[in-house]
Amino acid sequence: MSDLTRLTAADLAAALASGDTTSVEVTQAHLDRIAAVDGDVHAFLHVNPQVSLDAAKASDARRKAGTPAGALDGVPIAIKDVLVTTDMPSTSGSKILEGWMSPYDATPVTKIREAGLVPLGKTNMDEFAMGSSTEHSAYGPTRNPWDLDRIPGGSGGGSAAAVAAFEAPLALGSDTGGSIRQPAHITGTVGVKPTYGGVSRYGAIALASSLDQIGPVARTVLDTALLHDVIAGHDPHDSTSLKQEWPSMADAVRKANVTGLRIGVMTELDGDGFQPGVLARFHESLELLKAEGAEIVPVSLPSLAYAVAAYYLILPAEASSNLAKFDSVRFGLRVNPVGGGTVEQVMSATREAGFGDEVKRRIILGTYALSAGYYDAYYGSAQRVRTLVQRDFTAAFANVDVLASPTAPTTAWKLGEQLDDPLAMWRGDIATIPANLAGIPGISLPAGLADEDGLPVGIQFLAPAREDARLYNVGGALEALLASKWGGSILDKAPALTGGTR
Ligand code: GLN
Repeated sequence: MSDLTRLTAADLAAALASGDTTSVEVTQAHLDRIAAVDGDVHAFLHVNPQVSLDAAKASDARRKAGTPAGALDGVPIAIKDVLVTTDMPSTSGSKILEGWMSPYDATPVTKIREAGLVPLGKTNMDEFAMGSSTEHSAYGPTRNPWDLDRIPGGSGGGSAAAVAAFEAPLALGSDTGGSIRQPAHITGTVGVKPTYGGVSRYGAIALASSLDQIGPVARTVLDTALLHDVIAGHDPHDSTSLKQEWPSMADAVRKANVTGLRIGVMTELDGDGFQPGVLARFHESLELLKAEGAEIVPVSLPSLAYAVAAYYLILPAEASSNLAKFDSVRFGLRVNPVGGGTVEQVMSATREAGFGDEVKRRIILGTYALSAGYYDAYYGSAQRVRTLVQRDFTAAFANVDVLASPTAPTTAWKLGEQLDDPLAMWRGDIATIPANLAGIPGISLPAGLADEDGLPVGIQFLAPAREDARLYNVGGALEALLASKWGGSILDKAPALTGGTR
């Protein structure tokens, strides 16, 4: 078979099941693709062809014996470097963990291995998942496959770019404030943040524990659903993972139907500060859904005006506590000051050398927000805002089934353009952050290209906690409507990928 890297995970699964191809063939095709384009894209931090091919061989043996481990057995997958793995280093994009090998696998990694998926490698990310552009990686930025001079979004720019550049059909990401959904918007791919607790966080290097979620990245809604079905579920190693039976997300996509669905448009995320082309594609998508029988209603969530401010206090507070474990003793790097030093001096020299600017900025901010004199004014206020955001969502979902907005205000910006202006980058998270504060699930899928720059635009849907299937229903329906309008997938239109690197 030719062009195996162009197939979706669902198509690859079908080709493997029918014996039209083998996992070794599929895996080798993706490794070849990585070798051909990743010098430009830099989606991967670690690739280990031997590990991948061994897993592929084992998969082919299971197929031959008539005992595949699941529908996706033999399909390759990229893993964000925030998830720890025993057979490849886990750095979370930081120098402080350079070369560090985990003694155990993160639960989502265990689950994909048990389902027979073939790990291709670990993907690049902003250091400790702090950022919206992947430029804060200690190992250099990932480039957007649509335009190599632009950012791929972040923090999971590596996972999104790997999928957009056909280096992997599937990837795992983490979303603390949008790091799955915003890179999906920026690269023309699909990303889902499950309900908080829907997927185990065991072995996910923690950024902000009350906000972090692991989720799927792919080129189609069905593929994200298939992967979601593999990774979801209770894990005794993560006491915040929910004890419940989840319906099949893939079924929700296959049976997608929006007749009578009430879609609330968040008025605070529809206007000022959003690029015209982003809003145009958003409204077109809503029109398509309306023509299909959905009801579109404006909904106001006044607390969203304060969501970014609250998030950028809660996240640094939790991060400053989570990152305290990088003390030069327990993990990774140790830097000894010249002439020796006290424990504190070794710790300080290690952190000075091992953490990048954005990480230091947030540790300082978080430590300050938690300090005795300021705790109530900053952290306490932020937590109260968080409660208001949660209440606004509860009130909104009393009247609508899902909420909608553009996934982010702008399309991909140029590398370097926002690096000196952290507040500008933080403000860009306005549409994704609220879901994390409320613990609710969200999806981003491509809504088209912005007229002004020809770059991808995503549309986001949010659902009440535990109602992730609603996202797959509306996402699957809209994707089908848009595909018939465009005559195919948005990624077929990517210029940098059709020329040069493709
Ligand atoms: N851009 C957000 C931040 O910098 C999102 C991070 C994330 O989801 N990991 O915090």
